[in-house]
Amino acid sequence: MNPAKRRAIFERLRAANPKPTTELHYRNPFELLVAVVLSAQATDVSVNKATASLFQLADTPEKLLALGEDGLKQHIRTIGLYRTKAKNIIGLCRQLLEKHGGQVPAEREALEALPGVGRKTANVVLNTAFGQPTIAVDTHIFRVANRTGLAPGKTVLEVEKKLLRTTPDEFKHDCHHWLILHGRYVCKARTPDCAHCLIADLCDHPVLPVSQGTAQIHLAKKTKARAKPAKPAARHQVKTQPRKATA
Ligand code: SF4
Repeated sequence: MNPAKRRAIFERLRAANPKPTTELHYRNPFELLVAVVLSAQATDVSVNKATASLFQLADTPEKLLALGEDGLKQHIRTIGLYRTKAKNIIGLCRQLLEKHGGQVPAEREALEALPGVGRKTANVVLNTAFGQPTIAVDTHIFRVANRTGLAPGKTVLEVEKKLLRTTPDEFKHDCHHWLILHGRYVCKARTPDCAHCLIADLCDHPVLPVSQGTAQIHLAKKTKARAKPAKPAARHQVKTQPRKATA
């Protein structure tokens, strides 16, 4: 993808959403860290439901540690992998108190040393709590980066490095949020809404208008069920106008 196209994509995403941010609810870096750890393989909506009551009781490592692992489990049991996550969060609180004076560190190495915190979580915290221009790549961003041609890659690390290298500085801080929201609500995995995509004319690999995309999925399912080869639906180049950007 050439630099002019890349810039145009981010200009449109910025015009449509000038101040993007996470959909996780939090009031301080500690709450954000806990929410991001909980969000692994879970939806932000499910995490927000659980943390609404949890953060009323425990908004610091001291208070969460006092709640104990079993107490924490009671609040997060609706979230997938809650047992492992509870264990990690209790360990994380202990480490924050022992090594960082109860504060969330603003350095990658220190963050990634915490239980349950990997590169993606560290990137989100560094970006959203501390304003650093990191780009966390999750499943949505991985898909959007590959489909659009913004940063094609076989692994999340490859995509992250390409995005960091090629995204103009002025867009780097918000890149993660724009791409995740685009992947979550427009460029969805099974039914990308190319017909209403504001960057459709800039996308390297537009999939299908949503109605035809759905038809193709149904066709694929039927084909599989009958175990017969079927002629695939034609691949269309989407010729829609971009949605008018709002200020
Ligand atoms: S045109 Fe389709 S495939 Fe390309 S970014 Fe938009 S929704 Fe995704």
